[in-house]
Formats: sequence, C-alpha cells, structure tokens
Amino acid sequence: HAKMEGRSRYAVFHSAMHDRARHRLQIETDLRRGVERNEFFVVYQPIVELNTQQTVGFEALLRWRHPHRGIISPTEFIDVAEETGLIVPIGQMVLREACRQLSEWRQRHPARTITMHINLSPRQIADPHLVDDTIALLNAYHLDAGSLHLEITETAIIEHGDIASRALMHLRSLGAQICIDDFGAGYSSLSYLHRFPIGTIKIDRSFISQIHHSHENAEIVRTIIALAHSLGMTVIAEGAETEEQLARLRSMSCPYGQGWLFARALEPAAATALLDAA
Ligand code: C2E
Ligand code: MG
Ligand code: MG
Ligand code: MG
Repeated sequence: HAKMEGRSRYAVFHSAMHDRARHRLQIETDLRRGVERNEFFVVYQPIVELNTQQTVGFEALLRWRHPHRGIISPTEFIDVAEETGLIVPIGQMVLREACRQLSEWRQRHPARTITMHINLSPRQIADPHLVDDTIALLNAYHLDAGSLHLEITETAIIEHGDIASRALMHLRSLGAQICIDDFGAGYSSLSYLHRFPIGTIKIDRSFISQIHHSHENAEIVRTIIALAHSLGMTVIAEGAETEEQLARLRSMSCPYGQGWLFARALEPAAATALLDAA
C-alpha cells in the first residue's frame, strides 16, 4: 500500500510539474507569436504631486492583447519574457511607444513638465543596444533626456552589478533619470544604492498598503523618505489606494505618489484627456 501511495503521490507531483512546464511553453509560444503580430501595447498611470494632486508624469505599463485570453498584465508573463529574452524586443517597443507618446504630449502642453517612467528588466539593462536605442529615440522625438525616468529594481542592480552599473552611468550621463522601483521589497540598503546614479526611490506598494495597520511599516516609510531626502533623492509612494494613506504620506512629506486613489493605468486617449483637463 505504501508503495502504491508513494507512486501515486509521485504521479500527482509529476503531473503538476508537467502542467506547469506546458503552461510556460504555451506562454513562450504565444509570446513569440505576440511579438510577430504586435499584440503588445502600453497604458499610462499618472504620477501625482501629493500636495496639489497635479499629474506630473506617467508610468508606461505594458499590456498584452492576447487573441484568446483578452488583455493580460505583465505579472502573468514577464518572467517567461525575461527568461526567453523576448522582453528585449517587447521592451524596445515600450520604450519607442512611450517616447512617441511623450513627444505628442509635450507638443500639446509645451509649458508643462511631464515625465515618462519606463520599466527596465535586468535583461534589458544588460542589452548592449539599450543606450544607443535610447539616444536614437531621444533624438528622433526631440525629447529632453531629463524627462525620461528609467525604473529598475534593486534586485536587478544587485544581480547584475557591473553591467547594470555601467549602463546606468551611461544613461545617466545622457541626462536620463534613474529610479529604483519597488524599494524595500528586496534586501538592499539605500547606502548601498547610493553608489549608483539614482535620482528617485519608489517605495514598494506593500509598505503603503500597510501604513495604517503596521506601526513598523509606517516607520519604515518615514525613514525611507527622510533618508532619500538627505541623499538628494526624490520619493514616489506606489499603490496609494485610500484618502487615509494619502493623508499619512503627506504628513510624512512624501512629495509624489501613484495609485488607484488617483487613477488606474489609462489608455492613451484617457491619459491625454486627463492632461487636457488639468
Ligand atoms: P511596477 O513597475 O511596480 O508597476 C506598478 C504596478 O502596480 C502596476 O501593475 C500597476 O498597475 C499596479 N498598481 C498601481 N497602482 C496600484 C494600486 O493602487 N493598487 C494596486 N493593487 N496596484 C496598483 P502592472 O501594470 O500589472 O505591472 C506589473 C509589473 O510588471 C510592474 O510593476 C513592472 O515590474 C512590470 N512591467 C510593467 N510594464 C513593464 C514594461 O514595459 N517592461 C518591463 N520590463 N516590465 C514591466
Ligand atoms: Mg515600475
Ligand atoms: Mg513598482
Ligand atoms: Mg512591482
């Protein structure tokens, strides 16, 4: 009986692994076809100044219009895209499209400062074409490099120390801003990250969502803001969903925020309407 049980447990385990492998393979196949057929597009989530609630910029967020599954968030495919390297062509599209959109908004609202935040995965930062691609886009769309904010995670910096550091230095020297995404979710310290040319810290959503439920989290947020300021960095709070969170963040002198309280990620036309109305 024991032998039977062992075997059937193995069979269940094996079949779960098999399902997972098949699911990944399916995503990979679909991703390749998606790249060929241009199934990816970009939506834009406003970044607001907390005191005035003015939109000062947007984060470009990738979406996939899957032919059978509908619109899919990157959390469901970014790992596979990263492992297969497909994130490189997909990311190039995001960079190009976000620059094109920014130049359109700049022409529409020449007197306003509008920043564009673009996420870069570790594989993209290691891509030798990244710097040249970025220069070409800045020129083609007559953009001020300073309006481009490139978001990378602390994990990417730690895992790809040398390559990441060289690419970031180069991008920074062009004038682009470097932003640490999901700060606090990894294991790095601000003093370690201070060696890199970082202008902005985005505090991970998990801390903001717990700001009223956990005294420790609130203190961590307060400390990150104070330390970032003393290091000459600015701060964006991610994932603000409630008025209470907003009030607390303002009381901590957090300058910028992003979250469903202000707006979800918007289709280009809706983001344009928001800019026009402000
Ligand atoms: P992220 O860069 O940290 O982006 C913020 C995520 O939080 C977005 O999810 C956004 O829709 C979501 N979010 C914003 N405000 C709120 C809120 O108030 N509450 C909650 N619960 N969520 C909120 P999204 O668009 O699904 O993207 C997930 C992640 O995928 C991103 O996290 C980023 O790491 C990655 N990603 C997105 N676009 C790109 C891209 O173009 N390239 C690369 N390499 N990665 C991307
Ligand atoms: Mg981001
Ligand atoms: Mg983030
Ligand atoms: Mg994230």
